[in-house]
Amino acid sequence: MSSIFTKIINGEIPCYKIAEDDNFFAFLDINPNTKGHTLCVPKKEVDKLFDLDDELYLGLMQFSKKIAAAIKKTVPCDRIGMTIIGLEVPHAHVHLIPLNTMDDMRFHKKVAMSTAEFEALAESIKANL
Ligand code: AMP
Repeated sequence: MSSIFTKIINGEIPCYKIAEDDNFFAFLDINPNTKGHTLCVPKKEVDKLFDLDDELYLGLMQFSKKIAAAIKKTVPCDRIGMTIIGLEVPHAHVHLIPLNTMDDMRFHKKVAMSTAEFEALAESIKANL
């Protein structure tokens, strides 16, 4: 069965999309630690990040770097943190999280956002790519 991220990439499930190219896809995390929390995903469905072949692994890092720069331009924050977890969704992905404090990296701390806020934020990040 396809992962939820494959369904998002294929357009079967909606998302707040930021960018895609031939190999990668970026969208806002639906349950963000902070506003602008974004996931970067390889289109190829591989569970664990370090099982990606070198080309896809390095490509994902390059793609994430581009997305992080656009998030930083859009969201007032000290820096963009990056983390890999994968305990919930077995499809390799990078979390990019706008940070002001160490606490912003804690996955117990979440912010509520309306649909309109998600849509506006995704558009603003896209415009800064
Ligand atoms: P993890 O697999 O532990 O790295 O966490 C998966 C992340 O995916 C969590 O931060 C979820 O909030 C996020 N997530 C799960 N389903 C969706 C979805 N449909 N759209 C956007 N983000 C999602």
